[in-house]
Amino acid sequence: MEDLILNIKKTINYGDFFGKYLKLKRVGSTYMSICPFHADSQPSLSVDLERGLWYCFGCNKGGDVFNFVMEMENCSFKEALYYLADILNIPLQDNQNLERLKVKIDFELYEKILSFYSNVLNKTEVGQRARKYLESRKVGSEVWKKFSLGYCPKNIKNLLTFCQKKGISIESLVKVGLVYKKGEDYQEILSGRIVIPIFSHNSKILGFAGRTIEDEQPKYINTIGLNKSSTLYGINLAKSYIKSTGNVFLVEGYFDVWALHSIGIQNVLGLMGTSITNNQIQLIKRYCSEVILTLDSDKAGQISTFNQLVKLVSENLVVKVVIIQEAKDPSELLSIDSQKLIENLNNIKSDIDYLTQCYLSTIDIYERQKFLEKFIVLFLQSVKKEIIREEYIKKFSKESSLPYTYLRRLIKSKIVSDISLQQRIDLEIYFAIFCFVNFDIFEKYYTSEYLKVQRDYFEKDKAYILFKYLEECVSKGIQPAQKIIHDNNLTEELKMVVKNTIKLDSKERELYFLELYNNLRKKYLVKDLKEYIKKGNYEKAKEIEEELRKLSRNK
Ligand code: ZN
Repeated sequence: MEDLILNIKKTINYGDFFGKYLKLKRVGSTYMSICPFHADSQPSLSVDLERGLWYCFGCNKGGDVFNFVMEMENCSFKEALYYLADILNIPLQDNQNLERLKVKIDFELYEKILSFYSNVLNKTEVGQRARKYLESRKVGSEVWKKFSLGYCPKNIKNLLTFCQKKGISIESLVKVGLVYKKGEDYQEILSGRIVIPIFSHNSKILGFAGRTIEDEQPKYINTIGLNKSSTLYGINLAKSYIKSTGNVFLVEGYFDVWALHSIGIQNVLGLMGTSITNNQIQLIKRYCSEVILTLDSDKAGQISTFNQLVKLVSENLVVKVVIIQEAKDPSELLSIDSQKLIENLNNIKSDIDYLTQCYLSTIDIYERQKFLEKFIVLFLQSVKKEIIREEYIKKFSKESSLPYTYLRRLIKSKIVSDISLQQRIDLEIYFAIFCFVNFDIFEKYYTSEYLKVQRDYFEKDKAYILFKYLEECVSKGIQPAQKIIHDNNLTEELKMVVKNTIKLDSKERELYFLELYNNLRKKYLVKDLKEYIKKGNYEKAKEIEEELRKLSRNK
């Protein structure tokens, strides 16, 4: 892991990397860009291409290149690592391959195996239970055939026989993430589950999801290596319909996609249980400019609706909302009454009407205000076209009876202030992270006689770990790797340091370093001083006083 991170740092060209996502403009010593993470009209995101750091002064997001990928792709640190390794063509070690994600995708092999699973579902005795299950959930055979569903029998022998006939080795099944080794035996990942192939927009199989038919936990399992964030469920079938209707129903799960197909609606895509990623938004924009959010009607679904709505609106998409009534989601409603589902889907609300309705139906005054500040304001900030935003503010003002000027002021007040960011960071940790980010400066002074950076200054656990690590890097002559920051949950602190230093040039950063160091030194000298006075060692106390005086003069 450590090696991989260093490898990424060595290989990456920050200009190329950030240039892919942002339109960078040089301003002084840094580069600025419109921020992709909030509704930004003027470039407020600052990037330091030399060190790969970034910070947005609008929404307070920032950090290193890994944070950037995590924000952009909605993924974990580990996934960000593999993502970067992938675009930089850095080979992974075997255990990392197994660990997740980057298995070798083999479209052809996936297709062959799918033909086996489909055959089991459609034509065999073993597949009968799965057929019954699908029918019980109102998924008819014409729909499951259209989506090329299959069934993975519990006994792996069936698959092995099939593969033997076709000349497919078991190792290749392991390599593509379908089979894993369990002790001496092999086991299928999707054993006993309905097999759902996930296609890319150009009909290539990216991997499989498996749905239990026996109420096992977890309900869904994915084959190793399946990266859902680049596609949307059903895109291969829906794209031409989306193009011709000019809009798309965005639903949550596989069963919802099938439910809409069952009643003849084909311009539908499934989120597959995640929050929408940037890649997915770009994919939608290829085919249409209007999204009809048709997510779950429970509390979680509502919050998801608000979040996706803001994201989509800030990408200049027209967003509408369908509220599923009398059921949790389209699939459940189909089971109850297909006519009702059709009626529900015809009842489409505009984004602002939907939010206004949610606001007005929130009875509790405190909750109502929270909703206003958290969602309505954020939504209105995300609307990029000034004319539309004005129209929305007026409309909402009228219906909510909130004064227009009050709303304007709320919207103008710079994006939601992040309280956690304002919290104080210990000087030790701040300094250690500063050294981490500016390793060149740390290295220079650490080896010089000028500074006596002492470990005693770093009694705070995390600062101590970080400092010891930096010492090790100096002695080994290697660059520090970001893992240490993320492993120790120092992302917020990193953000703070980046924020305060991103616009400084190298000379200014060096001065800042010395100032931080002096402050740290003073803090500990004062501590010592108190100790010595308490012990009555006035000789020593005097020495320290003298040193403190010197330090103040230097400043
Ligand atoms: Zn931002």
